[in-house]
Amino acid sequence: MPTEVVLASRNAGKLKEMQALLAPLGWELRLVSDFSDEEPEESAPTFVENALIKARHASKVSGGLPAIADDSGIEVDALNGQPGVYSARYAAKGAGDRANNRKLMGALEDIAEQDRGAQFICVMVFLRHPTDPTPLIAQGAWRGRILHTPQGEGGFGYDPLFWVPGHDCSAAQLDPGVKNRISHRAQAAAELLDMLRD
Ligand code: IMP
Repeated sequence: MPTEVVLASRNAGKLKEMQALLAPLGWELRLVSDFSDEEPEESAPTFVENALIKARHASKVSGGLPAIADDSGIEVDALNGQPGVYSARYAAKGAGDRANNRKLMGALEDIAEQDRGAQFICVMVFLRHPTDPTPLIAQGAWRGRILHTPQGEGGFGYDPLFWVPGHDCSAAQLDPGVKNRISHRAQAAAELLDMLRD
């Protein structure tokens, strides 16, 4: 019987992506929404704390299964790391990608080219059970630069404003397969996989 592990997500696409990334472990991943409709409040100021809140909740509502959770966002150098954990709700609670991107463009209006550095961050955690005192914590960082205007139609979130050095296009113009190999999420998943194999 494969080990059952709960993923702190309600998104079937994310389940498929994680199942592929962690395939070498032979685990069966389940969505937290299979167990509960309740969503924990991501109230902490750091990615790692929010990921732990989500993983602990998923493990608890699944009756104690091991749990994986991630938390991600974009940190902009010129804004001292903002929007950070507030990336999804930067313009307002429930704001869409367009409003968030517009706010970011406005905040960086007067910022010169060389000061527009930024990074996507993903923290991925693994808990053996809800009260596991030694969670595994992996982190990926994907560095780039914030554009003045959006470019490209693919991806989601801040992808159209994120210039990817070395590929000379925005993350929204990048081949999805390439993004899945080099992104902050791919980096964090690879690091977590290494830890889990040990
Ligand atoms: P979540 O924690 O994975 O839900 O991500 C929080 C927010 O960060 C998203 O709503 C996006 O605005 C932003 N974000 C995270 N990863 C990406 C990415 O790969 N591309 C663009 N935006 C992202």
